[in-house]
Amino acid sequence: MQASALTGKTALVTGSTSGIGLGIARALAAEGANIVFNGFGDIQEIQGLQSAVEQEFGVRTAYHNADLSRPREISALMEFAAATFGGVDILVNNAGIQHVAKIEDFPPEKWDAIIAINLTSCFHTTRLALPHMKAQNWGRIINLASVHGLVASAQKSAYVAAKHGLIGLTKTTALETAQTGVTCNAICPGWVLTPLVQQQVDARAAKESLSNEQAKQALLAEKQPSGEFVTPAQLGALAVFFCSAAGSQIRGAAWNMDGGWLAQ
Ligand code: NAD
Repeated sequence: MQASALTGKTALVTGSTSGIGLGIARALAAEGANIVFNGFGDIQEIQGLQSAVEQEFGVRTAYHNADLSRPREISALMEFAAATFGGVDILVNNAGIQHVAKIEDFPPEKWDAIIAINLTSCFHTTRLALPHMKAQNWGRIINLASVHGLVASAQKSAYVAAKHGLIGLTKTTALETAQTGVTCNAICPGWVLTPLVQQQVDARAAKESLSNEQAKQALLAEKQPSGEFVTPAQLGALAVFFCSAAGSQIRGAAWNMDGGWLAQ
């Protein structure tokens, strides 16, 4: 059997117990990469996700429960990945949280948590992953930003600030690695129906007395011209493309996959 494109590589996908991270982990595993899972959730369910990926794609997986708001736990996660698989070749900074409120009502502790998880954690994983990637002259860093890294929406101050910051970090990382085999890019999804977005659907349904389906359509109609959600599998396919040889000169891009959101 011919080896798949990423056989022998190790991918750490933060926040991969759910949603987009899980979709990207599955897509990378389908190309042969071993996966380090991270994120919160019921340990039995996480073990179930791991064995499904191992059986379906014939790769090895590991799991670390680091809380990415804590730099010390991020160091432990990176050491664990190195000890288990020899180092991280593909780093997908995906873990993220959201909170929706006007600036004057925004709880300062929510601001701190969003900046810590959605932005600062990506600095820590990147700084700890780069030495191994540079030493072997190959690596891929993929930051899950958002359309909110490029444009704003009301009531999402911390999220928009973190995602704009993450695109800045992506560009600097790309410049510092420009003459190496390491690339760094950001993916900017529009609406993807994951638990993070379902919470916003639920809030809208409650506020406007809508059904779940009506609330979903209302959310899409406002911003996403396609009227359809982007899927984690589609985002996984883009991540695989960034990891391919054809992706080796894509550097510092903020690549939207958004059903037309940013075209307006
Ligand atoms: P999700 O809620 O389904 O998954 C988030 C993941 O992050 C989970 O695995 C969760 O356990 C993990 N996580 C949360 N806090 C953590 C912490 N402190 N430490 C470690 N792990 C933590 O969300 P999602 O929609 O799949 O979002 C994934 C990424 O994509 C986020 O960065 C999000 O901002 C971004 N994004 C999502 C959308 C969307 O429409 N869903 C759009 C654009 C960008």
